[in-house]
Amino acid sequence: MFKPTPNRLLPDLTPREELVLLARILWREGYDDRLAGHITYKQADGTFLTNPWNITWAELTSDQVIRIDIEGRVVEGDWPVHKGIPLHLEVHKRREDVVVAMHNHPRYGTIWADAGKLPPVFDQSSLIGGGELALVEVYEGGVSAQQVAAEVARLMGKADMALLANHGVMVCGTSIRAVHQRAVALETRCRNALHVTMLGGGKEVDRSVQDRMVKFDGNEWIGFFEGMARLELARDPALAASIESLRTPLAAA
Ligand SMILES: [Zn+2]
Repeated sequence: MFKPTPNRLLPDLTPREELVLLARILWREGYDDRLAGHITYKQADGTFLTNPWNITWAELTSDQVIRIDIEGRVVEGDWPVHKGIPLHLEVHKRREDVVVAMHNHPRYGTIWADAGKLPPVFDQSSLIGGGELALVEVYEGGVSAQQVAAEVARLMGKADMALLANHGVMVCGTSIRAVHQRAVALETRCRNALHVTMLGGGKEVDRSVQDRMVKFDGNEWIGFFEGMARLELARDPALAASIESLRTPLAAA
């Protein structure tokens, strides 16, 4: 069992372990549309770690994470590539700044995407990840086809997050931490905006505050990702036991 200290909030994680924890955490935050959902995590050599097709985010383990190239070919791992990965590849081709990209059909984000509206911002928790949110109003039947994926990526432009009409959401950032923060804030914004609007409306966060917070890159709040990751490790001893830095080193022969 990992016990945090003020100087060490989480065990040292490999990139694969970071990706697994992001998937499991976001599943609990409402990014839980069964087999849907993919995360790509760009590595220094230009390849991408990603979750495979046929494994849910709730059960993903680091040995199931595959490595693909920019054309979507599996270069490491046994599992097949996710069907919706062309959307990620088109975003990565256009956006050097994007290190981590995440797509899913979250419970509240998808409602606003279906409505074709950007949710108003009523509280600070809805803004804490920063980033621009765009509405992509074109839907031509999923993002598995390269041509359709390219058009969605083009319409997303320089935005950090997007509501994809009749489909779901896309969240991008420079790290696993940033995408976690932004994805949680986006789903909070969509959920709270729906409820406040159903109550007849409320006072939106002042525009000057929104303009300031939108500039956050998602990496500001050390401790949020670590806290949620610790809960995942506490819930699943097998997952905790798989973390390389938590394994007991083998005794020297
Ligand atoms: Zn999708």
